[in-house]
Amino acid sequence: MADDLLILNASELVTLKGPRRARAKAEMSDLSIVQDGAVAISDGVIVDVGKTESILRDHGSTGIEKIDASGKVVMPGFVDPHTHLVYAGSREFELELKAKGKSYMEILEGGGGILRTVRDTRDASPQVLFRQSAKRLESMLAHGSTTIEAKSGYGLDKDVEIRMLETIKRLDDEYPISIVPTYLGAHVVPPEFKGDGDAYVDFMAIEVLPDIARRKLAEFCDVFCEKGVFDVPQSRKVLLAAKGLGLGLKVHADEFSNSGGAQLAAEVGAISADHLDKPSDDGIMAMARRDTIGVLLPGTPFSSMSKDYADGRRLIDLGVPIALGTDLNPNCWNESMQFTISLACHKMRMTPAEAITAATINAAAALGLEKKIGSLEQGKRADVIMLDIPTHAHIPYKFGTNQVSLVIKGGRSVWER
Ligand SMILES: [Zn+2]
Repeated sequence: MADDLLILNASELVTLKGPRRARAKAEMSDLSIVQDGAVAISDGVIVDVGKTESILRDHGSTGIEKIDASGKVVMPGFVDPHTHLVYAGSREFELELKAKGKSYMEILEGGGGILRTVRDTRDASPQVLFRQSAKRLESMLAHGSTTIEAKSGYGLDKDVEIRMLETIKRLDDEYPISIVPTYLGAHVVPPEFKGDGDAYVDFMAIEVLPDIARRKLAEFCDVFCEKGVFDVPQSRKVLLAAKGLGLGLKVHADEFSNSGGAQLAAEVGAISADHLDKPSDDGIMAMARRDTIGVLLPGTPFSSMSKDYADGRRLIDLGVPIALGTDLNPNCWNESMQFTISLACHKMRMTPAEAITAATINAAAALGLEKKIGSLEQGKRADVIMLDIPTHAHIPYKFGTNQVSLVIKGGRSVWER
């Protein structure tokens, strides 16, 4: 097979070469950078990585497309392991309420919050749901994300949850960005089950999950384990039902309070526990022992005007492998992993190298894809981005603008400016 494409002369080629698993502790600081680096791509796959001189010598025959990355950073496409991509409507009016100090409950009572989005999503036609979500997806691609996870969770009843998962599948089919689907029926107790969370848990376990598993509409099942939402026994019941059907597990854990979510994630063998703004020490140690990945979402406290960011520095030092995600949702309309990396450095005391590891190989591992994507290494899928900055530290340093100038998905250029 002849080579298709060479990317040459990168001021920094950020390869993240290393073990094909989530990186922990000091491993997270090692980006394995090649100065004046180059990548050779053939048939959608990376076939060689090294210095420009040696790549040109071994692969530089005539007739091959060559991209000059002089003065630029070349690295693996971002992987966003936690998004609520699919929903209808928006909640920009809540910004003013939050600024005036209204509480979450007051916003909910004023017609805002998650139940507002549930109503908007239930009312939207499949076409509207697809179009509104596609617009966000295009922006995520333009900001360098080449693989994302996307959850259901604004339908809650069986039909609309399935409509959301079908929308995710159609977006995955029609756009050059890979989407991993997650069932999040346990996002909030729907109005029709108000006051009876146990009955809703049974409904999910008996009526909904078996159908979703049979139709292969989701790879993961996620639960919002939090005081006042789903408690530990209810969360465990949903997760074990999903596990029995062959789905992978994720947990929204310890976001507002220590509610036992981190421990539960480790106990049931979840691939990740997400948020972790208020985990207990026991929960952190249980995760470190089981290699449960901590997916941190610094856009969420930012958009909620909260000071309670996860302590990324401490979690890394205690040995939890950390990934980063946008948590894109109507309360946190964040489409950019670059902004997320910047927040992780400025608000959670992660270094630029740690944050980039968390947004690539560790995020891939949080989706079970660490052997296929997340680093620039021979045999991996050629999901590659070029950024118009001289070194990787400029990603968190220059915030609020898009540094990406080229996105390559599976060896094909899919976005450029
Ligand atoms: Zn979330």
